Amino acid sequence: MRKKMVAGNWKMYGNLLENKQLLAALVAELNGVREDVIVVCVPYVYLPSTQNELQNTTIAWGAQNVSQYEKGAYTGEISASMLSDFQCKYVIVGHSERRMLFGEDNDVVAEKYVAAQRAGITPILCVGETLEQREAKITEQVIEQQLMSVINVAGIESLSKAVIAYEPVWAIGTGKTASPEQAQEVHAFIRAGVAKQNLGVANQLIILYGGSVKANNAPQLFAMPDIDGGLIGGASLIASEFITICRASR
Ligand code: PEP
Repeated sequence: MRKKMVAGNWKMYGNLLENKQLLAALVAELNGVREDVIVVCVPYVYLPSTQNELQNTTIAWGAQNVSQYEKGAYTGEISASMLSDFQCKYVIVGHSERRMLFGEDNDVVAEKYVAAQRAGITPILCVGETLEQREAKITEQVIEQQLMSVINVAGIESLSKAVIAYEPVWAIGTGKTASPEQAQEVHAFIRAGVAKQNLGVANQLIILYGGSVKANNAPQLFAMPDIDGGLIGGASLIASEFITICRASR
């Protein structure tokens, strides 16, 4: 049976004091009592303090982005090995905000995915369609292209060391959630596509849903057979919401 996973994406929110309070609440309620994987993906500068708060707990931490380059004259960039220095286990790659606001295309996302895995970090690869693409009925083509650009570079087996997050762009931060059935349909499409190439990898692949997941809709989403948990933005900043979502994951 696949593990369930809930990952928080703090985006560019928080400060030292608020983070300390949030993490203390998560540790108090979730440490050691959940079998599923629980992760918080924090802004780079808060990795050391997050590591400090979470080390020796069962809650993992990660980053929200990584450079595709190993090292060099890339002012302002952070490499995967730097993330490893702070024991990041996960890194989000290809989040729609990075794709849309910072011009990251499928090729760059694939390079970031490879860079993360080279450093032993599990990439959480985000895929998803815009509203226009859904209305044009090209959701499956868009997602296939996003996945294939990674598989072509890294190979299908690389997915055994990755997590996929299906995040319809129209549902991120908008309060509009895909219905459990809509999300399940895409998750099943992703798993079936991987299964055509490698059944074992497909069966083990964790596919998260992301897009306005809240405490009140998580149970229905997480009950679907191919939804293995969630990537949570806004609600991951509110301790009680995130804790309830984590509890809904099984
Ligand atoms: C996200 O940032 O990945 C996300 C899903 O955000 P939200 O939950 O706020 O829609």
